[in-house]
Amino acid sequence: MPIRKRPAKAGSPSAEKTVWHAVAEDRLLRELRVNIGQGLAAEEVEKRLADYGANRLTPRRGKGPVRLFLSQFHQPLVYILLLSGAVTAFLEEWVDSSVIFGVVVVNALIGFVQEYNAIRAIDALARALSVGATVLRDGQRRAVAAPELVPGDIVVLQSGDKVPADLRLLRIRDLQIDESALTGESVPIEKRQMTLADETALADRANMAYSSTLVTFGSGVGVVVETGDRTEIGRINRMIASATELDTPLTQKMSEFSQWLLWVIVGCAVLTFAVGVWRGESMLQMFMASVALAVGAIPEGLPAAITITLAIGVSRMAKRNAIVRKLPAVETLGSTTVICSDKTGTLTQNQMTVQAIYAGGDYFQVGGSGYTPDGEFRHNGQAIDYLSYPTLMECLKAGLLCNDARLIAESNHWRIEGDPTEGALLVAARKAGLRHAAVSTAHPRLDAIPFESQHQFMATLNHDPTTDSRRIYVKGALESVLARCDSALDPHMQPVALNKERLIRQLEEMAEQGLRVLAFARRDHQDDALAHAEVAGGLTLIGLQAMMDPPRPEAVASIAACYRAGIAVKMITGDHPVTALAIAKQLGMRQAERVISGVELQRLAPADYPATLAACSVYARIAPEQKLALVEALQSAGHVVAMTGDGVNDAPALRQANIGVAMGMGGTEVAKEAAAMILTDDHFATIEAAIEEGRGVFDNLIKFIAWTLPTNLGEGLVITAAVFANVALPITPVQILWINMTTAVLLGLMLAFEPKEPGLMRRKPRNPNQPILTKHLAFRICLVGVLLLAGAFGLFEWELSHGEPLAKARTVAVNVFVFGELFYLFNCRSLRYSMFKVGVFSNPWVIFGVLSMIGLQLLFTYWPTMQTLFGSAPIGSEEWLLILAVGWVIYAMVGLEKLIWRRFNPG
Ligand code: ATP
Repeated sequence: MPIRKRPAKAGSPSAEKTVWHAVAEDRLLRELRVNIGQGLAAEEVEKRLADYGANRLTPRRGKGPVRLFLSQFHQPLVYILLLSGAVTAFLEEWVDSSVIFGVVVVNALIGFVQEYNAIRAIDALARALSVGATVLRDGQRRAVAAPELVPGDIVVLQSGDKVPADLRLLRIRDLQIDESALTGESVPIEKRQMTLADETALADRANMAYSSTLVTFGSGVGVVVETGDRTEIGRINRMIASATELDTPLTQKMSEFSQWLLWVIVGCAVLTFAVGVWRGESMLQMFMASVALAVGAIPEGLPAAITITLAIGVSRMAKRNAIVRKLPAVETLGSTTVICSDKTGTLTQNQMTVQAIYAGGDYFQVGGSGYTPDGEFRHNGQAIDYLSYPTLMECLKAGLLCNDARLIAESNHWRIEGDPTEGALLVAARKAGLRHAAVSTAHPRLDAIPFESQHQFMATLNHDPTTDSRRIYVKGALESVLARCDSALDPHMQPVALNKERLIRQLEEMAEQGLRVLAFARRDHQDDALAHAEVAGGLTLIGLQAMMDPPRPEAVASIAACYRAGIAVKMITGDHPVTALAIAKQLGMRQAERVISGVELQRLAPADYPATLAACSVYARIAPEQKLALVEALQSAGHVVAMTGDGVNDAPALRQANIGVAMGMGGTEVAKEAAAMILTDDHFATIEAAIEEGRGVFDNLIKFIAWTLPTNLGEGLVITAAVFANVALPITPVQILWINMTTAVLLGLMLAFEPKEPGLMRRKPRNPNQPILTKHLAFRICLVGVLLLAGAFGLFEWELSHGEPLAKARTVAVNVFVFGELFYLFNCRSLRYSMFKVGVFSNPWVIFGVLSMIGLQLLFTYWPTMQTLFGSAPIGSEEWLLILAVGWVIYAMVGLEKLIWRRFNPG
């Protein structure tokens, strides 16, 4: 039968395209020129890579630059500016109107550049998280990066993987795939090995696994049929726009604030206009006053400043190994009140070394450390002859065969590929002279049940060709393995009755030292396939292997730092309760006198959850589903929860947590997709670092807001005061725009680069419900606004009363605003402390901004072109002294206010 082909699109190299799901398997493999047991050869991969290109999607089309630029105008506050521009144009005030329109365009350009860069940076970070794949090449399993896959590659899929290319499935064990990325269907699809009809719809192709979908259960093997843009997701990718969102709770609050401000400004402008006209002022003058009020009260720089500050936060976090996938996480991090962390690999080093073995009733100590396979076995303090202890050797052999890791000798060190727990078993066996390659060649694997954390065991079925016998080996948590055993091996390999109490006592003794214990069992088997039912009982226990996984020293310091910062730390592990408790103590965790096991948790009434959670930090043998319940309980007690996870079943808890944190190295793709943040180094310390950065980012945002609003308030007040006092406007609309734009860019934005404040991690977490503008901050804004009003209005009138021309008096008023903001900037470098405490030169950007601002202000005052554009005039040294005096008074008053506030709010 010929391979079923469909006409391909015009312009494609072959006239017809293979219908991958409708081809018989043998034909398919022939067409792809690959042997399922061998995979492709390295040279063939090279050739195909040159022919087909890397298995990578061409970057997605984002919101086009034009649309992004136009969207900058779609903001309520910009509408007011546009209206003001139109009004001044109508009044034929050409300079004013062109400056207003100029400002709108410049503002949009700044916003556009920042937003564009932020989107690009976040996209680039997301792309940098490469997906890996397990392939069979030259008869060997290898871990490769997904872009290196070519059509014909044989890929091994495991639960938790992201499917790396379009595959036709050739072997399936309970494989379920979440195809929502492709079809929108959120229920995982059960896959089957079969040939389908040509016209089967995409969602029904049970024999295919499509790129970017997620393996949620089971395992399978497939052959790559399409890569890169030729995959189904590649086709969709060309049609959809990038989904990077820059919206966060804060930006949403700010846009609500803008709406509100819009109405306040419109109200005030109308009132000013009405009052002026009622008092007999000319309509023209009052139009100008209303426009001045409107443009003055608008914090033009605010949206751009927020985006920039958040983007700087994202890149600072990336430098500290935390990749933010969802921008709101940057803010939420600062409010985190509890971190729920895995133990293995996050709090511990994941550098396992088997230290003790209990087999056939004998206890053995294993020497050596790390993955170097050097070290001797001791029994009762004496080095042993391995051959005298067959049950010990069987226990080591079980650890070798029931294992998917690889021990690799590099020029100067030994390295593990795969799960470190399994790696440790390879090292222990090799110390006794058992080599993985030799033992697994002698006992080829016929079938396997992979490790899933809800079952807590793994099983393999191995064949012994010399005797033509088949044997199942099982390894896993003692509780799980023991429940399946009805006998144990004695020192001479003879099955005897199982002494459960003795085993449990032995395990607890090992676990009390913080050792992680695995149990091993075996059973003879008849056929070539393995199912869960066949390991449900009737096993014979071989022994226990206990491995050390020391705490990470930096985690000890980070946990202490979290406590100082008012953040609780909970260890939520799949490991044994006694091991978990011992490690928690070594880590210096609080409330580590008691451990709650998954079984106890299950028995707990939901009403008792809050009290138990508040009193206990260590949770062991917790099933992934229980993590979700823990997150929900903590949240209902008012906590903001950061939760780590790595497995498929952790995804719901990661989504539910306020910050889901996935492991970049040891985590599954499913967990990464669900998380808001990914740790590239899997360290607990990185979460603490990210929280610190998150707090810093939020501080800087508040600093900018506290800095920018007094100018708007002061300007609004000056205009209103002038209209009510029936005098000339101390500052014109164009001058206001000049002040707002230049100071926002050269002064305010520099706050985004402010380093973190001392004592940042000694404060309590920020309450997410607390308004951005606290009463205290609102008071400070009013104080500075009123001081600016007094300074600008006072000096303006003083100049006029001394017979100085209007232009000169206005120039003085403008300089009062600029220098007032300049001095006040130094107050805003910390909301709590003086600039001397945070370091005068600790943010060089501020110095740069201040010097540039002074230069620009001199141009504004003395350069004839600027004088024509902005109606400014030269001023003398006496005026400068007065302006600087106003600035200094503002600095001193705010300094005093901070001092008083600190006195009443210590800590
Ligand atoms: P954590 O949840 O802190 O990362 P963990 O790695 O111990 O800890 P799980 O991966 O859920 O959590 O493992 C639970 C238990 O299953 C382990 O304590 C161990 O006894 C057993 N186990 C872990 N890895 C394997 C494996 N590869 N094969 C068989 N059993 C395993």
